[in-house]
Amino acid sequence: MQNPWISEAWRGGFLLGGAWFVGWLIGRPETLLLIVMSAYLAWHLYNLYRLERWYHKRKRFHPPAARGIWGEVFHNIYQLQQRNRKRKRKLARMLTRFNEFTSAMPDAIVVLSEDDQIEWLNKAAQHHLGLHPRQDVGQRIDNLVRHPRFANFLTRGDYSKTLELPSPIGTQRILSIRIVPYGDRRRLLVVRDITRLKHLERVRQDFIANVSHELRTPLTVIAGYLENMADAGDACSQQWGKSINQMQGQSRRMIRIVEDLLTLSRLEADDTPPLHDVVAVPAILAAIREEAIALSGEAGHEITLDTDRSLWLRGGEKALYGVFSNLVFNAVQYTPPGSAIHIQWYKKGDSLYLDVRDSGIGISAQHIPRLTERFYRIDPGRSREYGGTGLGLAIVKHALERHAGRLEIESRVGEGSLFRCVFPDDLAIDRATDATE
Ligand code: ADP
Repeated sequence: MQNPWISEAWRGGFLLGGAWFVGWLIGRPETLLLIVMSAYLAWHLYNLYRLERWYHKRKRFHPPAARGIWGEVFHNIYQLQQRNRKRKRKLARMLTRFNEFTSAMPDAIVVLSEDDQIEWLNKAAQHHLGLHPRQDVGQRIDNLVRHPRFANFLTRGDYSKTLELPSPIGTQRILSIRIVPYGDRRRLLVVRDITRLKHLERVRQDFIANVSHELRTPLTVIAGYLENMADAGDACSQQWGKSINQMQGQSRRMIRIVEDLLTLSRLEADDTPPLHDVVAVPAILAAIREEAIALSGEAGHEITLDTDRSLWLRGGEKALYGVFSNLVFNAVQYTPPGSAIHIQWYKKGDSLYLDVRDSGIGISAQHIPRLTERFYRIDPGRSREYGGTGLGLAIVKHALERHAGRLEIESRVGEGSLFRCVFPDDLAIDRATDATE
């Protein structure tokens, strides 16, 4: 198909040429040229007028009929319009689907601007957070969800964790809040109702706590009778001595498991930080070292201690004693006789550290992330042999979390392990300057 502009140029040339030729024949070439040029211009103006009318009268769908270049222009605009209409319909359909999908979502989603202003929210945000799309878009989220922990979470900038909060529209409900950064410093607030989950977790915790509690008394009674029988020194104990010893060992093991389960339940049930004691960590570590030397006995481990004597801690003394002793006693149990164990308590940067470093059997990398799971043992036989319950590191993890701390583990098989407790330095008490001493 020929280029419409070339056809139009031909047409114009032919008209003007013809006008000039006819004008020359009748002796008035300029006049005829002017008349034809005016007519040509009028035709263009007329089509421009039709284009303008057609464009504004949207009801009229099809373009006006025209010839030449104007026919082409009308046709092209019409095609463009058709394409735009299709695209618009597609976008509208997508928008409707998006709205339906976000409305059906059980999780609340709120889009936040850089300045924490609400830009968009879905239907569940009304249900979970009591936000209203009409009046609350454009408001700051921390003015509407008023909770100190939420404000802190929003400003802290560490979005790797979730925050659990009572719902602002009904304290019976518990929400889990996540912030997902995206795009140009915007953030998505994703809020999930975890009331049911929390309830189930509480039922599980209560169940374990109750079972452990119920088992403790009968087990203590059985252990007591077994002890009496072992001490009796009569015919019965001569005949059943070995069995009684075994029964005693097993009942002691069961009592330890029950005690550890109860400790774990207590730690799980209460998540308020235990900041009531001023804990003399250097003294505690010295006592634990003595106990560890006694535990090592003939194995003769070389246990060294290096502590910052002025560095004490605010926390729960009993819980911290449990944490530190667990790590040190584990080091004794999992390190060959005669080898070295080093305990170090110090402050570095913004944190306080308790390192328990041993030169023992070590742990291969795949086990390390699972060590703090309940009853996770690499070698259950060895653990049982020395009276382990498989709950020690789970207790350590929970107790540290209650102190806003964490457990870090580094290890190499055959070379030894490092178990490190990390505490935030706002728990530190400097005994060198502290007046309460
Ligand atoms: P357990 O009562 O079995 O010691 P823990 O929870 O204290 O339970 O420890 C879990 C497992 O971690 C242990 O069974 C052991 O396999 C491993 N473990 C703990 N401490 C050490 C260590 N210092 N060296 C090597 N393995 C260790």
